Amino acid sequence: MNRKYAVTILIVDSSSLFQTMLSEIMERYNFATVTCKSGKEALEVIEQQDIDMIFSAYHLDDMNGEELCSMLRSNPKSKNISTILFTSEDNQQLLKQALLAGATDIFNKQDFSQFELYLQRVTDSITRRTNLIGRVLVIEDSPSQLLWMEDLLSCSGLEVDAFSSAEDALVSFQYSDYDLVVTDIVLEGSMSGVSLVREIRRHPSNKGLIPIFAVSAYNDSARRMELYHVGINDYMSKPIIKEELLYRIATLIQNYQTLTELTLEREKLETLALLDSCTGLYNRNAFNQFIPKELANAERNKAPISIAVLDLDHFKNINDEYGHDIGDKVLADVGDWLKKTLRQGDIVFRWGGEEFVILLTNCPPNDATKVLENKRIRFNKQRYAGITITASIGISGVTYVNKTTNTDQLFQEADKALYRAKESGRNKVCCYQEEDCE
Ligand code: GH3
Ligand code: MG
Ligand code: MG
Ligand code: MG
Repeated sequence: MNRKYAVTILIVDSSSLFQTMLSEIMERYNFATVTCKSGKEALEVIEQQDIDMIFSAYHLDDMNGEELCSMLRSNPKSKNISTILFTSEDNQQLLKQALLAGATDIFNKQDFSQFELYLQRVTDSITRRTNLIGRVLVIEDSPSQLLWMEDLLSCSGLEVDAFSSAEDALVSFQYSDYDLVVTDIVLEGSMSGVSLVREIRRHPSNKGLIPIFAVSAYNDSARRMELYHVGINDYMSKPIIKEELLYRIATLIQNYQTLTELTLEREKLETLALLDSCTGLYNRNAFNQFIPKELANAERNKAPISIAVLDLDHFKNINDEYGHDIGDKVLADVGDWLKKTLRQGDIVFRWGGEEFVILLTNCPPNDATKVLENKRIRFNKQRYAGITITASIGISGVTYVNKTTNTDQLFQEADKALYRAKESGRNKVCCYQEEDCE
């Protein structure tokens, strides 16, 4: 692995054998290591060089892990260094005290698998922080701090456009695509950081949703709240803690990039004509496209499947009473509700008009009936565009999908069950029975 940031780990243990063993593991994960034998030596090392993490035995010749952690945490140079302890002790009280004294984590000396998993996670998290991909707009009026921020962000892999005034930054924002804005709040010049945030949030397109990280010398809660109200996503007061800043902006950038990817994916689906524009649900084309794969999966796993057809009751009256636009809004809200409340793996489709189809994978018709009966009761308690409505639901399905399972037939059966639900008074769930055929 090729890292721009060298991570140096200090290993503290009186046994050279254990030191060597740990060093070898660390090197496999591309960490640089420094070793020493006692707590006192460890404290000397951190004064002399930059250490990113400390792995220490709980029992050292001159102190225990708890004492070491207390000393590390009270020293400004080491208070932010992760400190992991190793012990063969199983004394919960002792371990708890070490954690309270500031140990980041404690591992058993005999069980390295947990520890290796931890290293893997640390490696992933460092990669996340140091191999960022994206473009950042930075605004800071102090030249030395601007340079510091620019250097830090570009060392983490980011492309940085740096400005000392909000006006210039805003021009660049209009014409370029960024993944994050990092702005100082108190700025020289006519435009403050707060006004810049306000301007960005007024942007009508998706650009206005860009994450904004604010930095300021003030740490006053009223001021911070004002910034959140204006639309920042996160805030840090100076002096900036390098590692923490990178963690927090990495999360902002990744969430924003995921959101952008999802939006693009959604637009792609729309252009492929798989989404219904009124409700944002999949449409009938999507059903036809997905169903062969779902059936094949279920057949392979000898799994059940059910189909539910949901039709809103007396929907015509809603249009008549409130108008077609409100009717559309009701349909959109119903779509949202269905999407939100179904189990993961279940898919909702807008079939047409005020009719929805729900594909319940891994769910036999009896269970589907119970699930949807519960949903029906909850459905009635909601308002859609401010209006309460009811729905009738017909269900059909099979306990095991096999070669003969035919979705057209399941669909027709569910539709017959729906007819029975309507005929027998609406606001009901009916599961298909042989008699429905007659
Ligand atoms: P039932 O309980 O028998 O289902 O009564 P209903 O009024 O819901 O059923 P009907 O089939 O008589 O009428 C369906 C209504 O749904 C008629 C139509 O105006 C309305 N509708 C269908 N598609 C849309 C749509 O996209 N938007 C709006 N606003 N209304 C729609
Ligand atoms: Mg109808
Ligand atoms: Mg209806
Ligand atoms: Mg209908």
